[in-house]
Amino acid sequence: MGQLHFFLFPMMGQGHMIPILDMAKLFASRGVKATIITTPLNEYVFSKAIQRNKHLGSEVDIRLIKFPALENGLPEDCERLDRVPSDDKLPNFFKAAAMMKEPLEQLIEECRPNCLITDMFLPWTTDSAAKFNIPRIVFHGTSYFALCVGDSIRRNKPFKNVSSGSETFLVADLPHEIKLTRTQLSPFEQSDEESIMSQMVKAVRDSDSKSYGVIFNSFYGLEPDYVEHYTKVLGRKNWVIGPLSLCNRDIEDKAERGKKSSIDKHECLKWLDSKKSHSIVYVCFGSVAKFTTSQMQELAMGLEASGQDFIWAVRTDNEEWMPEGFEERTKGKGLIIRGWAPQVLILDHESVGAFVTHCGWNSTLEGVSAGVPMVTWPVFAEQFFNEKLVTEVMKTGAGVGSVQWKRIDSDGVKSEAIAKAIKRVMVSEEAEGFRSRAKAYKEMARQAIEEGGSSYIGLTTLLQDISSYSSTN
Ligand code: UDP
Repeated sequence: MGQLHFFLFPMMGQGHMIPILDMAKLFASRGVKATIITTPLNEYVFSKAIQRNKHLGSEVDIRLIKFPALENGLPEDCERLDRVPSDDKLPNFFKAAAMMKEPLEQLIEECRPNCLITDMFLPWTTDSAAKFNIPRIVFHGTSYFALCVGDSIRRNKPFKNVSSGSETFLVADLPHEIKLTRTQLSPFEQSDEESIMSQMVKAVRDSDSKSYGVIFNSFYGLEPDYVEHYTKVLGRKNWVIGPLSLCNRDIEDKAERGKKSSIDKHECLKWLDSKKSHSIVYVCFGSVAKFTTSQMQELAMGLEASGQDFIWAVRTDNEEWMPEGFEERTKGKGLIIRGWAPQVLILDHESVGAFVTHCGWNSTLEGVSAGVPMVTWPVFAEQFFNEKLVTEVMKTGAGVGSVQWKRIDSDGVKSEAIAKAIKRVMVSEEAEGFRSRAKAYKEMARQAIEEGGSSYIGLTTLLQDISSYSSTN
């Protein structure tokens, strides 16, 4: 068997492309040729990092496929999920993505890869792989825990047994007693009506079950009960190879993931260096979640009331959210990054003592890998599930009390609750416990990716599986 060649095709969204880039680098470090498939306007997410790693002898390529945005009623430059103008245009985006099937198949024909690793939101790629008799592996980009919770809710529909949105229900048959409310679920998860989103979810599930297996950015020690549960109960072949972000070892790679950061990395490090260990709270809500102006004001007041120094990555274009005199009052105490923050670089700094996060899976795992306690503030997608993993299973974080699933314009969390949760994980009598548990997970994460560690072995198994598939088919 010659060198293995994998195609990796992420959904066009930062939270999907960033881990795929890391995955490609990881494969290359183990001798696999990796080709990333993306659209012209997303090439920059990958190209610089690939250039930077060329001298290491790693073999990562990019192939581009045109994204038919205009043809599907989207703005011409709408090639990423966070650029979709409104929720009702999401189906157009998925439809445009599905029109990439033919060009993808031409590329497969030309390059004959051994395997296709594609995003869950590209369900039609299972058929493309089948056409060429190569295995398709699904990448959900989330935790085992979230997939197990989602599966139980779908099968048991426990939200039907409660009489109000705020009454809790038990998620049945899981290794832990996990309770949720209806307000924490997406509307299409609860509705019996057919909608374009529910059709999408169904297509994802069907193609998932027809694909060769599922690959996870996680590590065994983080959620052992759920790796076992997923394997036994959901019965899918799976490999766990993360945390992927740990493949970024030098400053450049940590500072520039997804986009060029809006602050000079040296300036950021200098600021962090001037602070005491565990004294900073880092606040960032990923690449998609958006808050109302009044929610931003509450957050600003909450940060001030916590008394802790902070770095806050703010993604809004206007400044209306800023309470009167906020920036002057917090001068020296707070650093506001307007735009894209060098997240992994910040989290890995020893001044950081807490991470206020929306519980997107990449951010969650980056926080875990850095050994930082979390203040959880889920907003949408499966973030409410990830919050439970952090606060109730790992016990490395405390929630701000966010209870309303909402993609855009989230609101309703009060400054007192924000300040309280930050103080709880950073300076209360419980803080040391949060810190030491978080540190233990950081150690486990590092061991998992080292030679002989569980994720290292997970990748070895995947490579063996694909080699034997290729030689017998
Ligand atoms: N990220 C970053 N700087 C920012 C915001 C986000 O580097 O200012 C990165 C973050 O490190 C993570 C990804 O973008 O790798 C966001 O993924 P996640 O799953 O946490 O959230 P999503 O954006 O998908 O909601």
